[in-house]
Amino acid sequence: MLEKGADHFAESELVSVLAAQPLGMFLDYRAPEGGCRIGSYVIVPLGPRRVLGVVWGPGEGEVDVKKVKSAIRVLEEPPMRDEMREFLTRAGRYTLTPLSAMLRLATRAPGLELPQKMLKVYLPGHSAPDRVTDARRRVMDVFSKSGSKALMMAELRKLACVSSSVVKSLAGQGVLEEKGIPRDAPYPTLDPMKTGRALDGDQRRAADALCGDVIKGGFGATLLRGVTGSGKTEVYLEAIAETLKRGRQALVLMPEIALTSEFIDRVESRFGGKPAEWHSGVAAAERRRVWKMTGRGKCKLVVGARSALFLPFSNLGLIVVDEEHDSSYKQEDGVIYNARDLSVLRASICGAQAVLSSATPSLETWSNAKSGKYRRLDLNTRYGAASMPELKLVDMRECDKMSKGWISPELREAVRERLAKNEQTLLFLNRRGYAPVTLCRACGQQIGCRQCDSRMTEHRFKKRLVCHQCGETMPMPKICPSCGAEDRLAAIGPGVERIMEEAGALFPEARATVLSSDVFESANAMKEQVSKIAKGEYDIVIGTQMVAKGHNFPNLTLVGVIDSDLGLQGCDLRAAERTFQLIRQVAGRAGRAEKPGMALLQTYQTEHPVIQAIASGSEEDFWNAEADARKMAGMPPYGNLAGIILSSTIREEAIEVGRRLAREDAPLRSAGARVFGPAPAPIAQIRGRHRVRLLVMAPKGVALQNAVQKWVSGVGGSSRFKLTVDIDPYSFL
Ligand code: ADP
Ligand code: ZN
Repeated sequence: MLEKGADHFAESELVSVLAAQPLGMFLDYRAPEGGCRIGSYVIVPLGPRRVLGVVWGPGEGEVDVKKVKSAIRVLEEPPMRDEMREFLTRAGRYTLTPLSAMLRLATRAPGLELPQKMLKVYLPGHSAPDRVTDARRRVMDVFSKSGSKALMMAELRKLACVSSSVVKSLAGQGVLEEKGIPRDAPYPTLDPMKTGRALDGDQRRAADALCGDVIKGGFGATLLRGVTGSGKTEVYLEAIAETLKRGRQALVLMPEIALTSEFIDRVESRFGGKPAEWHSGVAAAERRRVWKMTGRGKCKLVVGARSALFLPFSNLGLIVVDEEHDSSYKQEDGVIYNARDLSVLRASICGAQAVLSSATPSLETWSNAKSGKYRRLDLNTRYGAASMPELKLVDMRECDKMSKGWISPELREAVRERLAKNEQTLLFLNRRGYAPVTLCRACGQQIGCRQCDSRMTEHRFKKRLVCHQCGETMPMPKICPSCGAEDRLAAIGPGVERIMEEAGALFPEARATVLSSDVFESANAMKEQVSKIAKGEYDIVIGTQMVAKGHNFPNLTLVGVIDSDLGLQGCDLRAAERTFQLIRQVAGRAGRAEKPGMALLQTYQTEHPVIQAIASGSEEDFWNAEADARKMAGMPPYGNLAGIILSSTIREEAIEVGRRLAREDAPLRSAGARVFGPAPAPIAQIRGRHRVRLLVMAPKGVALQNAVQKWVSGVGGSSRFKLTVDIDPYSFL
């Protein structure tokens, strides 16, 4: 794809342009005035519109040359680098995504095509005013106090308490100078020479190894494994420092936005400046600034969500994937990709180091380290006095006989002890809302979603029923929608809101709060709540998996897992792995500082191997057993999978196409792959679309993507039909 040859094109020479539009092909244009280069970002006419594209190579010249239109102009940005084009090409091939869609990911900053906006600022000029009024004097005072720092009109008006006409008249007389500065300013420089904290033995060894890699240059991938609180962040901050010293850029990916604020503070105290942030909560203008400055090398450190991987870094030397096992690195809609895997790809293309950090690595990464593909560095103890929490199983079969409710007597007692000592408790249940099922006691019907094949979850705070599949909501009904019986609807099973209710009744004096993604209006509101908890403003936190992700609550010493068995149900290939990771992570929240922690795991299956492995703390045993099971079954990471989801508003169509694909599987068989299905998806209907799944399985080393592409191309179907390919699926719903 990356043709060699002249990389500069004179005006009106034919060039091939990839547009960030769902066209799925390259289009020929004439180079605009001033010419362009391979990689130039250009604005081109497309029908009646003007769209953004990238010059990918010389024109093909296949169409009628006289009809070829001219590109309109080249953007001011540095051209897309070869390594980025190669990354997009290879990532697109791997995920079976059209290149144009990959380009859209790489240009997702609003207003890129607009010329650099200038910001008007004022500075003291050289003339004296014709007459001095109080207002004018106040303006001049502001500047003498601030050391003649350039100020915007709004700032100046506020600081000097004057109207804009005062400022304008001073500028007119040359008393103030009016200047334009680029709105997208570079980021403050970070100082990598400041010394970090003194590291302990394991930390020092790991940091030295990583820094050695950075100094050596070139590609390498490392699993940095260490229990929560062992100082992984401290270690990779050293690798970042080494990268910055060499003038290269670093990227830190994090699974949860609420996590970033603590990290940003740590960066600031380590390097004397803040990193750039990149996630959905960042305002449009700031996103554009990050995009442009990473491209110009004027932004050295970015902390972001998975899509930050597509920023146009000019000299990327290090990618850290924090909590690398987190399944939110898998993007599930639009372009389906795994940011953890693509990080390693990007690092390999641009000669950077990839550091995958986790207390409970994914089986994929664990086995890559075991086979020697990745280096593995271990931090074996918690930093300082902090020790791992004591883990204890609570057999709920015993408790059920004694009491009602979801908090066992043993857990209650433990919570009371913490309350008496002014320490915090976390009650963990990975279920949002009040109750997962609402049942009519008269007719036995469960209230389901009208558009999906799933049940509605009661959210009592909002007084509504919500479908967690499609987001459809309705007010909590008084009468049963099926039989019309009044006041017979009952909530079955617990969600976090219900545990909150129970905790409120059991511990009326305690300050309790729910931490769950749906109770916050915005990412900032959530951040605020997290920092309140860290400051000790609550005694009991009731949370979903959101709380598992690395927050540092120093006063938290007890974790109660309400339902340890929850994740073990279902047909998910990673059910055991996820349960293991999640519970170990949650338990790791307890006892971070000098106070020892304890985790109580409520379970109905004390003898289940996963529950046993968690309780015993023998991680390597768990990974080895899980690896053997996957090897036997030919499952990832020891085999390849692709999920095919067929959906249509017409049920028969999805089934019919599925059957046809299953019958006509020659391209798969000749490649050594096998297809299973079609089967109705576990959630057979979402948003009114009927869904059918096929699963393709292949041994390692089979060119699965090529085979799948050949197999599904020309599958046809009506305009209501859609086929989605999910390479390395994580979700089987
Ligand atoms: P992890 O990323 O493995 O969860 P952190 O790097 O967040 O661990 O470290 C846990 C806590 O211990 C943090 O509060 C951190 O500031 C502190 N810590 C870790 N290593 C050191 C060190 N060498 N010196 C001082 N404090 C440290
Ligand atoms: Zn729904």
